Amino acid sequence: MIGLASSARLCLNGISTAAGEGIVFHDKNDLEKARLSMVERQLAQRGITDQRVLQAMRDVPRHRFVPQDLWDMAYRDTPLSIGHEQTISQPYIVGYMTQMLHLSQDHRVLEVGTGSGYQAAVLSRLAKQVYTIERVPDLAQRAEQILQELGYANIQIRIGDGGYGWPEAAPFDAIIVTAAAPKVPPPLIAQLAEAASLIAPIGRAGYQELVRVTKHGDCTQVEHLVPVAFVPLVGEHGWRERDPSAGGNDIFR
Ligand code: SAM
Repeated sequence: MIGLASSARLCLNGISTAAGEGIVFHDKNDLEKARLSMVERQLAQRGITDQRVLQAMRDVPRHRFVPQDLWDMAYRDTPLSIGHEQTISQPYIVGYMTQMLHLSQDHRVLEVGTGSGYQAAVLSRLAKQVYTIERVPDLAQRAEQILQELGYANIQIRIGDGGYGWPEAAPFDAIIVTAAAPKVPPPLIAQLAEAASLIAPIGRAGYQELVRVTKHGDCTQVEHLVPVAFVPLVGEHGWRERDPSAGGNDIFR
């Protein structure tokens, strides 16, 4: 255990900052130790058994995908804010969803909801090519920059409504939706390859189930996995965009 608990004084990149509870980091090695500990305690000990997934999450520096003032929290068992009211998902959920896709090195994968770019980076370690769509331009641009800096070359990012998928690149061997929808967007099912699976949080505000949909010809097999709480998929196949003049949050209608 590297960490110290509450009222610790944190050092990030050599800059000492007063902070609340958390792990104390002094340098890159501490971040790496925290990452290895995250994989062991939050993933392996909780049933993530796919060694390729575990290794990908040991390799991808999660802290680089969150704002620098949150680096000390990057390996905690929690989602974190990435701005624009969006989040980077909890590490366990990233590992779980990735494991449930059973990716191979020759697979082409679509992600809907790039967010920070972290999930795309993990997928890129396990598949041949990752296509990822984000509706918030600023997030897409930040993700693209960090993915470039880290040298992940097999990821293409598009700005837009991911509910429509990426028809020119279809069919996909796997699709992962990382924002909550009321139902699985039909265009995404259409863009699955035969026997391929899609995983998505489906439900209402604050409560969804992860579902895995596998395509068999004109039929689909639907498996209900675990309860989750994701931010909404906003768009044609998701929820209405918030209307500031309405004075409330009507994203989940
Ligand atoms: N996978 C991300 C990561 O690794 O950081 C976390 C995704 S975050 C939980 C959900 C993301 O979905 C947000 O960045 C949000 O802007 C995006 N989103 C919501 N609706 C979308 C849509 N229709 N098309 C594409 N992205 C969408």
